[in-house]
Amino acid sequence: MEDQSFTISLKCLFCDCPLEGDIDKEYSSGDMLKCQNCEELNDYDALMDVAADEGDSLVANYANSEIDKMLKKHFK
Ligand SMILES: [Zn+2]
Repeated sequence: MEDQSFTISLKCLFCDCPLEGDIDKEYSSGDMLKCQNCEELNDYDALMDVAADEGDSLVANYANSEIDKMLKKHFK
């Protein structure tokens, strides 16, 4: 199976703009990430939950389209 990487960006839970984390800082559970746009504090754990959900659906969509292609190839 070929390598497929997915980009999942963290989005502010309040205004939906992409969050720019401090690259030098490692975030971990319990941390708060301040949105540079609306200045609300985003809970790291909640962001990870959302990112995981988004990742799941991306993978699922990719798998579905691949299966679709495969079936079309075989059953023309
Ligand atoms: Zn925001």
